[in-house]
Amino acid sequence: MIPDDLPFALKVERLEAILPQTQCRLCDFEGCKPYAVAMAQGEALTDRCPPGGDEGARALAEALGVPFLAYDRSRGLAVPGIVARVIEEDCIGCTKCIQACPADAIIGGNKLMHVVINDWCTGCELCVPACPVDCIEMIEL
Ligand code: SF4
Ligand code: SF4
Ligand code: SF4
Repeated sequence: MIPDDLPFALKVERLEAILPQTQCRLCDFEGCKPYAVAMAQGEALTDRCPPGGDEGARALAEALGVPFLAYDRSRGLAVPGIVARVIEEDCIGCTKCIQACPADAIIGGNKLMHVVINDWCTGCELCVPACPVDCIEMIEL
């Protein structure tokens, strides 16, 4: 459990280290750090992160010394091991996916075909609705 007298910034750091860093925003915060801040402030429960699954929710509850809550399935499901793939022949090079990707995992230029760097893709799926021609799919690695 995180000691009560730990400085706020360190508390946030400890909570953030538990979060999976997909930056998917399924928790309804702008990323993992803002969610960690809200939890450290006592303003958010520990059940909001689907990518962390129940294991992550348990680790957060233990860190904060609060009862375990299973992660809230209505926010999404924990799906490990998926990455985005651009269907190259359909890509019009509009760059909207690059702007949507919080992990800088998509490369390509204006009017050029875009590709996903698998090692950097966290599987957050934020690029999928951003694509106007529906040419991004999620695949299992
Ligand atoms: S749902 Fe979890 S992984 Fe996604 S941004 Fe929030 S804390 Fe990060
Ligand atoms: S490529 Fe898509 S799924 Fe992968 S991290 Fe970027 S936005 Fe998320
Ligand atoms: S949003 Fe879709 S069409 Fe636009 S660059 Fe990305 S993959 Fe290509």
